[in-house]
Amino acid sequence: MDAPTSSCSEMQIPANRAAVLTENLTSVLLKIASATNKSAPNKPIRLVAVSKLKPATDILALHSTSPHKHTHFGENYLQELISKVSLLPRSINWHFIGALQTNKCKPLAEQISNLWCVESVDTSKKADQLEKGRSLLAEREEGLKEVPLRVFVQVNTSGEAEKAGVEPRETSSLCKHIIQDCSHLKLQGLMTIGAIARSKAVAEGHENEDFVRLKEVRDVVAEELGIELELSMGMSDDFESAIRCGSDEVRVGTGIFGERPKKP
Ligand SMILES: *Cc1c(COP(=O)(O)O)cnc(C)c1O
Repeated sequence: MDAPTSSCSEMQIPANRAAVLTENLTSVLLKIASATNKSAPNKPIRLVAVSKLKPATDILALHSTSPHKHTHFGENYLQELISKVSLLPRSINWHFIGALQTNKCKPLAEQISNLWCVESVDTSKKADQLEKGRSLLAEREEGLKEVPLRVFVQVNTSGEAEKAGVEPRETSSLCKHIIQDCSHLKLQGLMTIGAIARSKAVAEGHENEDFVRLKEVRDVVAEELGIELELSMGMSDDFESAIRCGSDEVRVGTGIFGERPKKP
C-alpha cells in the first residue's frame, strides 16, 4: 500500500486511489477536448463528475489534491448529498441529477447553499417547491439574495413510460412557468438521460435519437421563449456522441470513478 496523502481535516485519501482518479479524469477530459475540437472548437463543455455511491474521499481527491481541481460533482440521492456536503469544502459546485420527489424539493433547495443546480425538474409542482426552499435559503444567507438556483428541465426524449421527464410537447409550458413564476430559480437548460439501447447503437455508428430529439426540443423552446438554453446530455458510454450532437454539459460517473456498488 502507498502511504496515504492527508488532506483537509481528518479525511485520508489513499495516494494510489488519488492517482487512478486523476488518470481517469485526465482521460475523460482529453476525450471531451477531442470531441469538441471536431464539432465546435473552443466551445466550453462542463463536466459533471457523477460521484453517487462513491466515498467523499474520492471527491476530495479530485477537488483538492488532483491538479485538475475539479469543481462540478453530481449526486442522485438527497441524504447522501447532504452528508457529503457536510464533509466537503464549500467550493464544490453540487449538481442534483437524480429522480426528484416533490416532497424532497424544498429541503434540497433550502439546506444546501453550494447547490449549483438541480437537473431533474419535470413538473411545475417540483419547480414551485424548489422556489420555496431557495427563497427561504436566500432570506437566511445574505450572500445568496440575488443568486438564483439554476435548474434544468428533464425531458423524456425516449417516450419510455418508466423514464422520468416532461413530454417534449409540454416542455415549453414548464419552462415558461419557471421563468415567469419562480424568481429564485434560473432556467439553465434541458436535460435528458435517454434510452440505453440507443446509446449502445451509437457505438455502431448511428446518431443517438435522444440527443437529436433534445436538441430539436431546445431549439423550438428557445425560439418560442426568446431565451438561451443549454443541453445537459451524455454519460460515460455516450458523452462524445452527445458533444457531437451539441451538448454543453456531460455527466460522467463510471468513466471517472469506476463501477458503482449496487444501491443498498
Ligand atoms: C448515474 C448517472 C449518470 C452517470 O452515469 P455513468 O454511466 O456512470 O456515467 C449520469 N446522469 C444521471 C442522471 C445519472 O443518474
